[in-house]
Amino acid sequence: MSKQERSFIMIKPDGVQRGLVGEIIARFEKRGFKLVALKMIHESPEFLEKHYADLKGKPFFPGLVKYMSAGPVVAMVWEGRDAVKTGRVMLGATKPLESAPGTIRGDYAIDVGRNICHGSDSVESAEKEIKLWFPEGIIQYTSVVESQVFEN
Ligand code: UDP
Ligand code: MG
Repeated sequence: MSKQERSFIMIKPDGVQRGLVGEIIARFEKRGFKLVALKMIHESPEFLEKHYADLKGKPFFPGLVKYMSAGPVVAMVWEGRDAVKTGRVMLGATKPLESAPGTIRGDYAIDVGRNICHGSDSVESAEKEIKLWFPEGIIQYTSVVESQVFEN
């Protein structure tokens, strides 16, 4: 798996309102991932419908779009080996009832409809989501600590 694997990670409106932006960013930084894009943005319901297109038709879809478009989110791209899978582990299970303590959802969320953060579920979804949220592109720079984070 490439060191350059990227995941789209988003702090949802409830995470922003609850003051968890710094906490969530710190977890990814401290783990060793490299931040390559970051912005705060308040998106429209139409845009969120695109982001969650795969879930169209689910009973919770209208509520999900309303929740996600109700306030600003913090959209990010984190890079590093296995960023997608490890990102999902760090987020915790979708349903907070099943998310382990120590994960973001397991530490800070109680309700599936207010579960604080989003993370891409595959490398392919990550690519799609990064294009959708960052049409301007991501930032390219050399990490000076890469050899301390990765053996090879
Ligand atoms: N969701 C919900 N009710 C459900 C399942 C999902 O409100 O029964 C919301 C929840 O915010 C979740 C999002 O829809 O994070 C997207 O669902 P998905 O199955 O993709 O979960 P995720 O990838 O976010 O873990
Ligand atoms: Mg998902």
